[in-house]
Amino acid sequence: MDDPIPTITFPDGAEVPALGQGTWGMGEDAGHARQEIASLRAGLDLGMTMIDTAEMYGDGGAEDIVGQAIKGRRDETFIVSKVYPWNASRKGTIAACEASLERLGTDRIDLYLLHWRGNYPLAETVEAFETLKASGKIRAWGVSNFDTDDMQELLSVPGGKNVAANQVLYNISRRGIEYDLLPWCQSRNIPVMAYSPIEQGRILHHPDLIHIAKANQATPAQLALAFLLERDGVFVIPKTSNIERVRENRDCVSLDITDEDWEALDAAFPPPAKKTPLEML
Ligand code: NDP
Repeated sequence: MDDPIPTITFPDGAEVPALGQGTWGMGEDAGHARQEIASLRAGLDLGMTMIDTAEMYGDGGAEDIVGQAIKGRRDETFIVSKVYPWNASRKGTIAACEASLERLGTDRIDLYLLHWRGNYPLAETVEAFETLKASGKIRAWGVSNFDTDDMQELLSVPGGKNVAANQVLYNISRRGIEYDLLPWCQSRNIPVMAYSPIEQGRILHHPDLIHIAKANQATPAQLALAFLLERDGVFVIPKTSNIERVRENRDCVSLDITDEDWEALDAAFPPPAKKTPLEML
């Protein structure tokens, strides 16, 4: 029996497993579609029911893949998608959302994010998000790649306080948000979604991560994911198109890391001592 995945409650009361699935890189090559759909479905079977996608990924191709993966299973999933900043006008946001719904084969997106800040005023995008919410096309909206000052500005525009999440680059090798953005969001009950949680595979070769993982009969990926899941209000959305890795990533919830090992990780990957601007990939 698998250990349960911890859950996080959104401001509107929706309770969602904290370990989900990313899709960047999916839907780019028709020859990989079958494997991508199978991995997402395997993740759903294992309780990783939040799927993160975007109109950007595979130029809509990833949303197509997600649509196929959730066919017949929509009600057990929590779908996150994102609008390009250059589509985030009053009308453009609505048109982009409708195109995403079409590709996803569903009538609603659970959480719709502004992918990163662009030139349209935040107030305009928020107004479009609120219109989409009122029509039932999205359940909630949020942002991505917003630093603390962006979040503060967002809260000052009409409707801005309805922000339901901020998705940012966060992993054990990039801990900058722990200095200010993460506590800022936590104190306001705004969930943070950690993207590139294993640094797109690059941190898996770090000798200290390998060493501490081994001592816990775990893989470096599992330890890196467990590190993030340990934090309050943080969703973790690793991407894999490999079913064995879906299983491996899912099992990170069973790790039981000692205080000494957390300290050793802090020594190898020190938390920030000062403000650093939010990085993005
Ligand atoms: P991840 O840190 O999730 O790493 C994904 C890479 O790691 C893939 O190449 C995958 O390869 C590999 N991988 C996954 N699991 C394992 C494992 N257990 N062992 C070894 N390798 C593994 O990077 P992403 O950038 O994909 O981030 C996750 C998700 O976050 C994205 O897919 C996307 O949904 C979102 N995102 C959002 C951004 C934003 O601006 N809002 C920016 C970047 C990402 P394979 O598939 O072959 O297993």
